Amino acid sequence: MTTPLTSIEPADFLGLTYDELRDWLAARGEPAYRARQVCDGVYHALVDDFQRMPALPTSLRERLAREATITGPVTRASAVSKDGRTRKLLLELRDGKRIETVLMLYPASAEGRARATVCVSTQAGCAFGCTFCATGQMGFERHLTAGEIVAQTLYIARELRAHPWTAPDGSLIDRVTNLVFMGMGEPLHNYANTLKAIAILNMPEGLNIGARHMTVSTVGLVPAILRLAEEPFQVNLAISLHAPNNAMRARTMPVTRKYPIEEVLKAVQTYIARTGRQVTFEYVLLAGENDSVGHARELARLLAPLAQFGHVNLIPVNVTAAGYKPPSGATIRAFRETLRAGGVSSSVRAERGDDIAAACGQLRTRYGNARSLPIVALGES
Ligand code: SF4
Repeated sequence: MTTPLTSIEPADFLGLTYDELRDWLAARGEPAYRARQVCDGVYHALVDDFQRMPALPTSLRERLAREATITGPVTRASAVSKDGRTRKLLLELRDGKRIETVLMLYPASAEGRARATVCVSTQAGCAFGCTFCATGQMGFERHLTAGEIVAQTLYIARELRAHPWTAPDGSLIDRVTNLVFMGMGEPLHNYANTLKAIAILNMPEGLNIGARHMTVSTVGLVPAILRLAEEPFQVNLAISLHAPNNAMRARTMPVTRKYPIEEVLKAVQTYIARTGRQVTFEYVLLAGENDSVGHARELARLLAPLAQFGHVNLIPVNVTAAGYKPPSGATIRAFRETLRAGGVSSSVRAERGDDIAAACGQLRTRYGNARSLPIVALGES
């Protein structure tokens, strides 16, 4: 009887910190400066093939091609919004799982300079089943590795390098400036890989994206929020709240039964005390469900103790299979005014890319697991 040959998986360099990369190379007799050269190739020249790293000797390039990988996912579908400022990609990972990554381009505003924000996925599917979310209806498939999270950002970094965006103020945006962990999946459910991806994307030898330019979104996993408060990276925290009380929240977000709002807010207070960072509360507005003036009053009372450090981001729902509808402009204005009167600041997230199904999980839902998908042209959906 023959023993089957076990294939050795190539090392995913996109999932290694600089120190890990240096150690991996050192274990194979390579000097420390090779790690810097590999990082230059991956994160500065933005190549996805060792053969395109001329600083490395040919023998090392060949060895790396056999024993390591820097190849990211492949595009299965792509769509660009009519205004050209939102680009959504359906990417396929090595095992065939499909995830979504979104690039959002923002002109300069009172909040700062023009920016290119990448929204990355941290899981294929999601275990939390929020009723308004297309990903939540798919169920959980698996956690993404740190390398797979980094690869999404690199993919967009290459796109921006090849096709820089000229913002309305004339500035040229040719790199990723901000990252939001708000794509498919719950980032803090995949804690270790999300944190490692943050470390890799933050490292000076890599893309060097500041932790303060990164936002991690969560449905409110209390132990993970408390753990995050102790990490060296002071990332922004966004809490998906979406309702002003537990009974209502539990109807759309089953996780509420495990972590009630009061416990989540206590953990948020700890996060603020430890990091000094402002926390955003995401509130998807569902017409006729959670958008009345009464709900706004209740929300303002709930968040009043955090008002100085808390900000509400109102998001009119994108239309999903669940049949929710966004409220009217007048309803949204009344909601905001009530929050303001209660001492809570808010903004309305511009509905980005509605014409291309930009909300989390919608592109994947639309195209399912079809083997052959169109690369959608500019403005089509
Ligand atoms: S909103 Fe986030 S946590 Fe809820 S189901 Fe969707 S991806 Fe999961």
